[in-house]
Amino acid sequence: MRFDLITIFPEFFAGPLSYGILRRARETRLVEVNVQDLRVFTKDRHRTVDDRPFGGGEGMVLKPEPLFEAVESLLGYGVGDASKPCGADPKTAIVLMSAAGELFRQETARRYAQLERIIFICGRYEGVDERVSEHLATEEISIGDFVLSGGELPAMMVVDAVTRLLPGALGNEASSQNESFSAAAQEESKTLHLMDSASHQSPVTSHILLDFPHYTRPAEYRGWSVPDVLIGGNHAEVANWRRAAALEKTLRNRPDLLGRE
Ligand code: SAH
Repeated sequence: MRFDLITIFPEFFAGPLSYGILRRARETRLVEVNVQDLRVFTKDRHRTVDDRPFGGGEGMVLKPEPLFEAVESLLGYGVGDASKPCGADPKTAIVLMSAAGELFRQETARRYAQLERIIFICGRYEGVDERVSEHLATEEISIGDFVLSGGELPAMMVVDAVTRLLPGALGNEASSQNESFSAAAQEESKTLHLMDSASHQSPVTSHILLDFPHYTRPAEYRGWSVPDVLIGGNHAEVANWRRAAALEKTLRNRPDLLGRE
């Protein structure tokens, strides 16, 4: 998998790319990460990447030309123009990070993990000329219902979420299969929901269950003890407890995931 990050702050990514799973995935060549300085694609002396918004108003907007040229240079081919637009390679996503984008979810990460290449466009200031969304990006993605000052952190979050799904990225293969929002959690929640729907009126359309709570030593800390069942060694009882605890936690923290609000 290759990731390209187009940004006006190329130094930004040094930290996040240098630790843990991402570091190891780069070292073992499971992923290749290329950071592209947007200013390289400016043509004026001041290396201008932004300009004032048409129609007036606050702030500055990232200009289309350097962004189109940066992406085309990375792709190695042109995306065309209004008279002759060119189709994109289905194994490559061109992702515009945007507070006004579609929500990024675990299922988006699973879809991206099937691709060969993702090019991220990191916005700044008031955002990006809309023609980038309309005619260059293949997707416009938000990482949540809040506004950040740039697309670098959001892009990094997507890189992280996708990388840990690639086969071989995690030490223990099982660990991305049974966690919050995983496909396994999805199956689990359907079963629970079916059992549960006998007593409630909600439709069986739920999708996702959060992870169950984890505990480690010491078994007692400041008088707070670990649930007995986890220490008892009965695997069936542990599995039952974990299912119930995951459902309880999902109901408490994210009732929306179970169609209850
Ligand atoms: N005026 C815009 C916000 C611009 S914030 C609006 O109201 O929607 C500047 C840049 O930060 C954006 O171009 C985008 O790249 C990034 N950004 C901010 N919040 C984001 C979010 N929730 N998800 C993804 N990118 C975000």
